Amino acid sequence: MKSKQELPVKTCPVCGRPFTWRRKWKHCWHHVRYCSERCRRQRRTKPAEAQ
Ligand SMILES: [Zn+2]
Repeated sequence: MKSKQELPVKTCPVCGRPFTWRRKWKHCWHHVRYCSERCRRQRRTKPAEAQ
């Protein structure tokens, strides 16, 4: 079976996991940086103790 759709993939900087294009992002994919709303909210609450 060859139903490969070649969806674009990005890596979420918060959880570090790759996520694929979703239909809801079709108009703003170039703005999308996080895999989910949850990660998007976590970007500021990221602990700075890793220094
Ligand atoms: Zn994420």
